[in-house]
Amino acid sequence: MTDWFSEAQSLFEYTQALRRDFHMHPELGFQEFRTAGIVARELTALGLEVTTGVGGTGVTALIEGGRPGPVVLLRADMDALPITEETGAAYASQNPGVMHACGHDGHTAILLTVARMLFAQRGELAGTVKLAFQPAEEGLGGAEKMIEDGVLDNPKVDYALALHVWNEKPLGWIGVSDGPSMAGGEIFKIKVVGKGGHGAAPHLTVDPILASAQVVSALQGIVARNVGPLETAVVSVCTIHGGETFNVIPPSVEMTGTIRTFEQSVRRKVLERFEKTVQTVAEGLGCRAEVEVNRLTPAVINDNGLARRVQETARALFPESTLDTGNYVTMGSEDMAYIMEKVPGSFIFIGSANPEKGLDAAHHHPKFDIDEAALPRGAALLAASAAALLA
Ligand code: MN
Repeated sequence: MTDWFSEAQSLFEYTQALRRDFHMHPELGFQEFRTAGIVARELTALGLEVTTGVGGTGVTALIEGGRPGPVVLLRADMDALPITEETGAAYASQNPGVMHACGHDGHTAILLTVARMLFAQRGELAGTVKLAFQPAEEGLGGAEKMIEDGVLDNPKVDYALALHVWNEKPLGWIGVSDGPSMAGGEIFKIKVVGKGGHGAAPHLTVDPILASAQVVSALQGIVARNVGPLETAVVSVCTIHGGETFNVIPPSVEMTGTIRTFEQSVRRKVLERFEKTVQTVAEGLGCRAEVEVNRLTPAVINDNGLARRVQETARALFPESTLDTGNYVTMGSEDMAYIMEKVPGSFIFIGSANPEKGLDAAHHHPKFDIDEAALPRGAALLAASAAALLA
């Protein structure tokens, strides 16, 4: 039997070199031209037939096993974020204002490593591995675009797996939940429109800054007062822009933010209260509000049977690890949810924080970095899980 962890560890230098190269050259969603080029180059070098331009900058390839069987999709996201890196790492971003602050550089390097491992073992596989390198996970709809371009067809995908390096948890921890895993998300825009004027004559204006401040406060009441104590939801206002100078009350203020929920009923309630709260608070202060809410992703819900098989694989592979199978859920969201709405899937979290090395900044933080020892662990678990489904 293949010792997947030893295999992955023997490829560590390959994985690390790729990860650091991607980290130094991050690209935003749908602009992953360089990254996709390297992915295509590496897969071609293995001898695989590569399809590029899938859902924008996505790349796919098939590894045909020695015997017939199901088709397992393995997905990695490739995009970076509009953040200025502050890690000071030797391999820090060389692309100003763009940073791999979520670990997708690691995911891409892991899946290329998995491709090498599974390709070497292809004779033993009963079925097909479909590798999917996805663009634009960070809220731009990369998964949906790949689905529109047929990533789940020809050959039809039976199972889908993806992983995320995870800095909320230490190196050694693995999370594969039995059901709900990541929240569904919406993105919202609010424009509070008042009447601008002199800062010294507020009575001649309708102040959208005051109204916006009250809207932000009132929105916190939805989770505190409308969502049940045992239910979960998040309402976060994340940007607020209004005004240009100290003595002018601006005509309007714009805000954006996000809503996260798991349950459909909670989602509906939160959305209804959200719209109503913004409108009535703004109106109460003489303003008018324009509200726009768009769906970001559904919730990530693991298929029970599939999650069990990944859990069994993880236990066998890493008997010393903490395997969280129960209730590890996060309010973060992931567009892998669109793929997992269509085919049974399992989402795997690989603990990647190491506080002793100072590698424990949160995802999307300018100092985010992982302990790279998480990379071979992720590669081993993904490869072994795919192999187990194709045994
Ligand atoms: Mn991510």
